[in-house]
Amino acid sequence: MVRIIRVLWLTLFLRCPACQRGHMFRSMFRMNVRCPVCGVIFERDHGEITGGMAINTVMVLSIAIVGAVLSVTTTYPTWLIIGATALVMTSASVLFYRHARALWIGILYLTGSMFEDV
Ligand SMILES: [Zn+2]
Repeated sequence: MVRIIRVLWLTLFLRCPACQRGHMFRSMFRMNVRCPVCGVIFERDHGEITGGMAINTVMVLSIAIVGAVLSVTTTYPTWLIIGATALVMTSASVLFYRHARALWIGILYLTGSMFEDV
C-alpha cells in the first residue's frame, strides 16, 4: 500500500515511477518517450494516452457536477455559474493534462505494464 501511494505521489509530480528521478515531460505538452535517467519507455504501446485522457475526463466531469449542484443549491445567476464552470473546466483540463497522463503511467507501472528493457 505504501508503494502504491509513493508511486502515484511521484507521478503527480511528473517523476519517473521506475527510478523516481527522471522527468516525464520536457515541456508543457511534450512527454519524453524514455526516462532521461533510467531509459524506461513511458508509454510502450500506441493508445496508452487514452488512460490519461480518461482520468482527465473524469476530473473535468466532476467539476461539471459541482457546477450543476451549485446552480441548483445557490442563488447565484445560472449564466454566471455556467460561465465559471466552463472556464474552470477548460483551464483545469489543460493544467491537469500532464498530471493525468503521468498518473496513468504510474498505474501502468504498478500493474506491470511499464517495465525496464533488459
Ligand atoms: Zn526513470
